[in-house]
Amino acid sequence: MPKVTLIEEPSQCDDSPWHAMTVEQTTALLHSNVTAGLSDTEVVRLQEKHGPNVLSATDAVRWYQVLARQFTDVLILILLVAAVVSIAVGELTDAVTILAIVLLNGMLSFVQEWKAERALEALTEMLSPRCHVIREGKEQEIDAVTLVPGDLVLLEIGNRVPADLRLVESMNLKIDESALTGESMSVLKHVDALAKDTPLAERASMVWMGTSATNGRALGIVVATGADTQFGKIAQLTETIERETTPLQQKLGVLGTQLGFAAIFVSVMVAVAGWAMGKPVLEMFLTGVSLAVAVVPEGLPAVVTLTMALGIRAMVRRKALLRRLRAAETLGSATVVCTDKTGTLTQNQMTVREIWLPNGTVSVTGVGYDPAGHFEVDGQQIDYHQRDDLIALLDTGTHCNHARLVHDGDRWTESGEPTEAALLVAAYKAWRGEEKPSDVVHELSFSSTRKRMTVVKHGPTGLVAHCKGAPEVIMPQCTRIGHGNDVRPLTADDRAKAESAYQRMAESGLRTLAIAYRELPQGCPLDEGHVEDELVLLGVVGMLDPPRLDVPAAIRMALQAGIRVCMITGDSAATAQAIAKKIGLSATKALTGSDLVKLSDQELCDALQEEIVFARTTPEHKLRIVKAFQDQGHVVAMTGDGVNDAPALKKADVGIAMGLRGTDVAKGASDIVLTDDKFSSIIGAVEEGRRQYDNIQKFVRYLLSSNVGEVVAIFVNILIGGPLILLPVQILWMNLVTDGMTAVALGLEPAEKSVMQRMPISPREPVLNKSGIAIILGLGTYIGLAALLLFHYYLHSDDAGTAALAETVAFTGIIMIEKANVLNFRSLHSPLTRVGFFTNPWVLIAIAVTVALQACAVYVPFLQHALHTTPLRWFDWALIIIVAAPIFIVPEVVKWFRSRTP
Ligand code: ATP
Repeated sequence: MPKVTLIEEPSQCDDSPWHAMTVEQTTALLHSNVTAGLSDTEVVRLQEKHGPNVLSATDAVRWYQVLARQFTDVLILILLVAAVVSIAVGELTDAVTILAIVLLNGMLSFVQEWKAERALEALTEMLSPRCHVIREGKEQEIDAVTLVPGDLVLLEIGNRVPADLRLVESMNLKIDESALTGESMSVLKHVDALAKDTPLAERASMVWMGTSATNGRALGIVVATGADTQFGKIAQLTETIERETTPLQQKLGVLGTQLGFAAIFVSVMVAVAGWAMGKPVLEMFLTGVSLAVAVVPEGLPAVVTLTMALGIRAMVRRKALLRRLRAAETLGSATVVCTDKTGTLTQNQMTVREIWLPNGTVSVTGVGYDPAGHFEVDGQQIDYHQRDDLIALLDTGTHCNHARLVHDGDRWTESGEPTEAALLVAAYKAWRGEEKPSDVVHELSFSSTRKRMTVVKHGPTGLVAHCKGAPEVIMPQCTRIGHGNDVRPLTADDRAKAESAYQRMAESGLRTLAIAYRELPQGCPLDEGHVEDELVLLGVVGMLDPPRLDVPAAIRMALQAGIRVCMITGDSAATAQAIAKKIGLSATKALTGSDLVKLSDQELCDALQEEIVFARTTPEHKLRIVKAFQDQGHVVAMTGDGVNDAPALKKADVGIAMGLRGTDVAKGASDIVLTDDKFSSIIGAVEEGRRQYDNIQKFVRYLLSSNVGEVVAIFVNILIGGPLILLPVQILWMNLVTDGMTAVALGLEPAEKSVMQRMPISPREPVLNKSGIAIILGLGTYIGLAALLLFHYYLHSDDAGTAALAETVAFTGIIMIEKANVLNFRSLHSPLTRVGFFTNPWVLIAIAVTVALQACAVYVPFLQHALHTTPLRWFDWALIIIVAAPIFIVPEVVKWFRSRTP
């Protein structure tokens, strides 16, 4: 007895609950129609009445929450204290300036974070569930949000149930209700009315929103939407993106905390030491605050958030929707991509090419879903009317089929499974357009685990099972061969001939499918064991599914990037190896699902050392393969589309679901949804992930080197006994107003050419490795000492001018050197001459805006007053530029030399 914890009685129909009504009563009550569904006008009316089919969002972030977050930082509190102290000592301007800058910074950070939130919301919308309905007599795919009571919904294996439905047709439908009841066994559903007092978990004529179909297909009428559904009453669930912090953000958070402590320690030490040495208390307090402000890269969190938000959009352009933010980063460090074949590496455009029949092989001409084409034997067109065996096979292929061909203008397209559509097309090449009556009595559905499908229909003398599936699965169930009156026992010789035929087809890269039938004896139970047994083999079909054209290049790119590509397919070993060869994937060995189960974990790990493809696998095998790779220390990205792929998708470091082919269940379990199902998009997303990681590294280093520069200037200045070099307001201006902008611009840097030519970065790699720390310290020391040099030169030279001018030159000098320094971080490896000076115009714009702002800071009277500056002369600017130039020129020359040495 399932554990029902969550659901309660439907309020809407307590007197006569939906499950207790007949289909006719339900349709009548909802003014619906089980063949045509609702009309468009009805839908509009009902939408107005019932509203959208959504559950209330639990975690929608409000703008004021985001705004408040900007002002709840310890540093902000320190600055507020500084402002209060400034007021207390009569420095009202300083207090106002500090507050103005804090406010400005808060607003800028708010805009950045709010943009990030909006990007997440937009993503949520893109991920919103869709479903198939019949409206105005036509089947259509719609946004599940627009469903209304009375709508006729089609369900099939892998679909998430989009609303509460009363079933009106059900073909072996099984539903996983664990989301609602906690019960993990799928429940078989049917359309019969039930007793009024049937407990909710046993209402087999109903399916509930939020649960998912694990088998079969069905048609149901919507009886409740949104908050009126059972799920709506007990849970608040939306398809939202988790607002998690990524590993890199966590590492940056730790770095931030460490810097915060360092800031407090350094400031207190310096302030106390200075005061002990006899410096005025106020000056030392200001110095302490300046140091604290200088150590912490205040703009960093907001810049990281914005960069990630922009990264989400960049991923969307690359056809990858992130369901978890951390996926971009993890994908960048993936070392193995496990990918399925059909539709990802291949086009999923099936065309029947060869048909092996007991009387000989027939070739089929034509391409794609256009039924133009004919049948040939030895290159000669044949009249199919004279081949009953061919007609019988095509006939069964169309009976055991859910696909439909659509002739739209001069284009033929398919709806449903391409494998089945290909069989329809082949049949159309014989008898054009004749529909098969849909008098299905029973169906044993296809699944990647069963690898076969059977449909039971009425035949001339009783029930007939029409069956198709992987030859290795169907052949053992066959005991006879032939068709109609020409049926004989299947001999070992027949078996060998069929096997060599499908082996040959597979070796040329064709997908193979055996077709069989059986006239069922009277009273035969309609289950797998009885129906799919003692079959009559009609023949074997070979279908071509050409590789996607962009795959070979993507595989080469993956290999260069140190990423191993491992094909895991449901198709046969020979097909898998043939396709692998065509796409340039070396596969010295193929392991099938049945081989896999015989291997111990250690043997599997050993097998993974070789260049291997996995064939005839079931989704369950994928989980084992992921684990084996992970045990070897790999970071695994895994693709999936079926219901049973969910565990492997969850287990993988990055689960990638197929947006077009994938089931709702697979999408729900994934980290990334591909909108075009292409393998090359995975590699594109890896490149994008690496670009984002690189760029975050770049601006972290840039911001920290600037901060080190400021600390060095202040600290060394105290050591040599100079007067206060930088005021807190000036440091705030530098860090918050001018640096943030340049850092955001660095985050927009395009991917470096080398990004896919280096090995993946280990997730355990610290944000700052040794070379990173050396670069920050080296460049930071130059910034600090150069500013100090300028300051003391102006303080001591006779013609240079006043102390106020010295301060302004040091202040402007630091900013200008930092702007020259930003160019160093456009690439961590290559000189700008190679990267291209104009490839990231945002950096140039940010530099220009910063210089303009600094010019305002020294020439606009009210800013002069606020920032304690005096006007600079041309000579001063020239001197600053001369001092700033080496910070860019020297690293550039070093990079240039290093890039020339192999
Ligand atoms: P990949 O994992 O590379 O994407 P796949 O998912 O298409 O491959 P499956 O769907 O598991 O692999 O198919 C495995 C085999 O099952 C096919 O080789 C074919 O023989 C058989 N098969 C595929 N589709 C059907 C179907 N609709 N009905 C019956 N048999 C099918």
